[in-house]
Amino acid sequence: MEPAPGPDLAAARAALQAERARLWAELGEEIEAPGQMTYGSQAAAASHVFAQQRDLALREQAERRIHAIDHALARMDAGKYGVCEVCGAAIPAERLEVVPWATTCVNCGRHK
Ligand SMILES: [Zn+2]
Repeated sequence: MEPAPGPDLAAARAALQAERARLWAELGEEIEAPGQMTYGSQAAAASHVFAQQRDLALREQAERRIHAIDHALARMDAGKYGVCEVCGAAIPAERLEVVPWATTCVNCGRHK
């Protein structure tokens, strides 16, 4: 029996590296420091704080994703890209296309 064709590693690596570069660029953008703005009103101050919190949340998300991308690239270097690191099943190509940094199958990813 022929083994099922594995994921397209070159394409996956390119996708991972492109996403990584995009996230780094995003993180490189300065967050407006508090105190540099003179607040016209409490509402303006509140919305400024809200914007900062949102920026911080986005940065956290970007950092987590960079971590996941690095992890996926390490798995690729180890020859284990596309294999669920929890149960060892092959991760479907459709999942890897949408989430190239996935290192678990949908089932195991749910319990993370
Ligand atoms: Zn699994």
